[in-house]
Amino acid sequence: MSPLDRFRCEEVFRRMDEYLDRELAPHEATLVREHLETCAACASEYTFEANVLLTVKAKLRRVVIPSELRAQIERSLSRDTPP
Ligand SMILES: [Zn+2]
Repeated sequence: MSPLDRFRCEEVFRRMDEYLDRELAPHEATLVREHLETCAACASEYTFEANVLLTVKAKLRRVVIPSELRAQIERSLSRDTPP
């Protein structure tokens, strides 16, 4: 794989949430993982985001969200996802 095929930091940041949610296509997830293994800045951002996500998910489990609000959140979260 040539260096040109690698993700830049910006591209990794843009995909971080999807990577954390395991929603990336397998080849994209591989590119993100490879970048994280070689880039300290993105690796620490990943660790930070992963912790935030764990905290949020732990809270969501404790809080009962009205189903309409949950649907709204899910819609807004999936809005940026390419078709
Ligand atoms: Zn990076």
